[in-house]
Amino acid sequence: MTTTMLDTDRALVQAATAVAKLRCRSENHTVAAAARTTDGRVFTGVNLFHFTGGPCAELVAIGAAATQGVGELETIVAVGDRGRGVIPPCGRCRQVLLDYHPTIQVIVGPLDALRKVPVADLLPDTYIWAEQRLDASAIVRTGHWPMPTVPASRPASED
Ligand SMILES: [Zn+2]
Repeated sequence: MTTTMLDTDRALVQAATAVAKLRCRSENHTVAAAARTTDGRVFTGVNLFHFTGGPCAELVAIGAAATQGVGELETIVAVGDRGRGVIPPCGRCRQVLLDYHPTIQVIVGPLDALRKVPVADLLPDTYIWAEQRLDASAIVRTGHWPMPTVPASRPASED
């Protein structure tokens, strides 16, 4: 279901556009993304083109958010360099967005007709990674897929 674009959504497009203009000036960085949290914080990123399969801008942006401890992202958009406008996420990003932020809205469409769609609408009949995990019952209870345990890690409260 498409959702109406709000001023905050247009501001998110402007943020990605500004990063694209400022940082996407080589063949290594050609797309910028901006993601907004439910409380209005914005995280941006650019793609890292690499022959081994470098991450898209969307993945860098959600990684930047994760680095700051953000749990839930509300909306994301990607903008191409050279005035290419809003770019829909690739298949890999759609899958990652759905698995990490199942309720995220994605801004797509031409600049004069932008719209917001749930990421799930971009992946009908998709593979749900979390449902295939052994502890899928935890996801049903909490609505979140469990974070993997990092060996030798300890809670932040012990810092
Ligand atoms: Zn991608």
